[in-house]
Amino acid sequence: MKREEVFNFSAGPSALPAEVLEIAGRDILNYGGTGTSVMEMSHRSKAFMEIHAGTKEKMKKALSVPDTHEVLLLQGGASLQFSMIPMNLMGELGKGKADYVVTGNFSSIATKEAKKFGTVNIAASSEDKNYSYIPAQSELSLDPEAAYFYYCANNTIFGTEWKYVPETGNVPLCCDMSSNILSKPVDVSKYGVIFAGAQKNMAPAGLTVVIMDKGLAGREMACTPLMMSYKRMIEKDSMYNTPPCWNIYILGLVLDWLEKQGGVNGMEKIKSEKAKLIYDFLDESKLFNATAEKDSRSDMNVTFRTGSDEKDAEFVKAATAKGFTNLKGHRLVGGMRASIYNAQPMEGVKKLVEFMKEFEVANVQG
Ligand SMILES: *Cc1c(COP(=O)(O)O)cnc(C)c1O
Repeated sequence: MKREEVFNFSAGPSALPAEVLEIAGRDILNYGGTGTSVMEMSHRSKAFMEIHAGTKEKMKKALSVPDTHEVLLLQGGASLQFSMIPMNLMGELGKGKADYVVTGNFSSIATKEAKKFGTVNIAASSEDKNYSYIPAQSELSLDPEAAYFYYCANNTIFGTEWKYVPETGNVPLCCDMSSNILSKPVDVSKYGVIFAGAQKNMAPAGLTVVIMDKGLAGREMACTPLMMSYKRMIEKDSMYNTPPCWNIYILGLVLDWLEKQGGVNGMEKIKSEKAKLIYDFLDESKLFNATAEKDSRSDMNVTFRTGSDEKDAEFVKAATAKGFTNLKGHRLVGGMRASIYNAQPMEGVKKLVEFMKEFEVANVQG
C-alpha cells in the first residue's frame, strides 16, 4: 500500500505528521550541513546540544511551562515513571503513602508498582464497570496527608478521559498524560509531575517527557538508582547519560508542526471537531455503539463495538482492506478502537465515518 492510501489509527506507536517524516527523511544523511545524521553525532556536539535545548524550549512554550517547573527528556517509557514517582516522592521506603485513582490498565499497573514502596490508598476506581467511566470529584476519597495524588488523564485502552483536574488541596498531582499530552492546554502550575511516553502524540517510542515542579526534587528514597533520580536528571539537564538523541530531534520537529496548527489551543479545536464527528455518528448509528460513558469519552481513543464479536471482526477486516488500519480494539475491551491523536488528519476521521456508514447500510436490515 502507498502511504496516501492508509489512515493509521494505531494506539501506539502511532502516526506522526507526514511533514515531520519528510523533513527527517530529507536530512537523514546530512543534518544542517554537518555531513552527519542526527543518529550519528555526539550528544555533546554543538549541533545536538542545540537540538536538545531547542526541543526543551519548544516543549516549554507549547505547554506554557512556568519557571517553577522543569522539562526532562528521559528514557524508560511512561512505565518507568510508575516506579520513579513513588521512589522520588513517597518519602522513606515503606513509610510513605499516596493516593491513586484506578481508571484503566496503566493506572492499575502504576498502583501495583507503587505498593512496593509504600502504602497506596485507592482514592477511586472504575473497575466495577470495566473502566468505562471516570469517577467524579465527589467520589474521590482523598487522604490530606498523602505524599501525592496519582491519576491517568487519558485511558488509551478503555477510551476514557478526565474532563476535570482533580482538586486535592495541598497534595501534589502526578499525572500520566501519555495519550493526550499536547492535545489541549494544561495548567502546568497545578501539577507536581506530568509525564508522557512519546509514542502516542509526540515522537518515536523511547523518549519520555517529564514536566515537574522543581520543588519536589531531592526527596528520593536512599535506594533510588541514580538513573531514576529526578534531582540528578535536573542537575544534568537530562544528559546524565546518552539521551535518546533521534527521538528528541523528532519531538522538536513535531513541536514545530504543532505550532503551525495553532499550538495546543489550535489542536484542542481540531481534536474536538474530530472526536465530535465520530461520536455523533456512533450515537445515531443502528449498528455501532460507543463503549465509554458519554461524559467520560476520550477525544483521543474512540472505543466502539457492534455488539457481535463476529461483526466486529468483519468490520476490522473490511476496514483494513480499505486502508483504515489498526482499528482492532485492545483485548481487555474487545470491539474496535480508533486512535485519533494529533497527527490523525480530519480527513482520516471523515473517511472512516463514511466507511462506517457504508458498512452499517450493508449490515443492518430495514
Ligand atoms: C502507552 C501508555 C503507557 C505505557 O507507555 P510505555 O512508553 O510503553 O511505557 C502508559 N500510560 C499510558 C496512558 C499509555 O497510553
